[in-house]
Formats: sequence, structure tokens, C-alpha cells
Amino acid sequence: MSRRGDEEYDYLFKVVLIGDSGVGKSNILSRFTRNEFCLESKSTIGVEFATRTLEVEGRTVKSQIWDTAGQERYRAITSAYYRGALGALLVYDVTKPTTFDNVTRWLKELRDHADANIVIMLIGNKTDLRHLRAVNTEDAQSYAEREGLSFIETSALEATNVEKAFQTILGEIYRIISKKSL
Ligand code: GDP
Repeated sequence: MSRRGDEEYDYLFKVVLIGDSGVGKSNILSRFTRNEFCLESKSTIGVEFATRTLEVEGRTVKSQIWDTAGQERYRAITSAYYRGALGALLVYDVTKPTTFDNVTRWLKELRDHADANIVIMLIGNKTDLRHLRAVNTEDAQSYAEREGLSFIETSALEATNVEKAFQTILGEIYRIISKKSL
């Protein structure tokens, strides 16, 4: 058990959110950490993170989730953002094919800057906009399989699969970490 102030936890996992501007990274973060959603597009610049402590595979895990907070617009994400990250949620918008096309560029960025063992999960967000869908689930699924990524579709607005996405990536990280410390 680690102790920081009053809080006790078994593990601290840093997870970063990446992907094009406007895909819903901040709202995925706020849905997971505060159960909140905001329709306004924020314009805050600068890295932000939020934490949530939860049970993963029977262990108490403090997750520290980092949001680019707009830096990706200027392609100015520094290597400090990726430092120590055990997981990455690579988000695109299912209504905007360009954000899916850019996933390849984000993967390269991760492979250039993040730890080689980082767990990466591809997330297609905004599934509530059913009539505007422009990226097939099957195409994204097979892309993820080819690249060795986990894959899930979410709606931060409707709170669909957000919890599951985090539980899945934190579980994957836990399994890697616990194998290492055997
Ligand atoms: P970021 O730039 O990737 O952090 O994206 P934001 O979280 O700021 O979201 C950009 C815009 O998309 C905002 O207007 C959000 O309200 C909206 N948005 C985010 N997630 C969803 C979602 O799941 N469904 C819908 N319909 N809109 C969303």
C-alpha cells in the first residue's frame, strides 16, 4: 500500500488521452472522473489531469488521467506528457473520418515518444450521433487488430462504455505490472 495523505492505494497508473482536437477527450475525462459532460467546447490551453481511485482486479488503483487540454491543435505535445504513462487512450470521432485517418499519425507519435510497453486503446467516441456516423465499427476494429490495440466505441454524452474503456485499459496495465513484479 502507498500512502499519500489520507489516501491509500496499491498502484498509481498514469494514462494519457490523445487524438485530434474536438473528438471528446476532455469529456471522456470528466465523465470518468466526475461523471460530468459539457456541451461547450473549451478553449483552455495547458496540460491538465484528474484522478480517480477505483478497484481493478481486486486492487485499489489510483488512475491519473492526463488531457492535452488543446495542445494538440498546435502539435505541441511535449515528451513530458508521455513520460511515465502506462496507458494511452487514442480517441477519434465516429462522425469525422479525418480524425480516424489521423489515428496513424497519433500512433507514430506514441511510438516515438512513449514507453515501448505502453498499453494503447483505440476509442471511437460520439456513438450517440447515430445519424452522423461516418466511420464503421468493423473498419476501426480491424485496424485496431492489425496494430495490436484494444478497441471500444463510447459516448461521453450518454456515458456509454466510458467506464468499461477505463476498466479495460487499467486491467491490461495491471496484468502487465503484476507479471513484472513476480
Ligand atoms: P477534445 O478537444 O478532444 O478535448 O474534445 P471535447 O471534450 O472538448 O469535446 C469537443 C466537443 O464535442 C464538445 O462540444 C463536446 O460537448 C462534444 N462531445 C464530446 N464527447 C461527445 C459525445 O460523446 N457525444 C456528443 N454528441 N458530443 C460530444
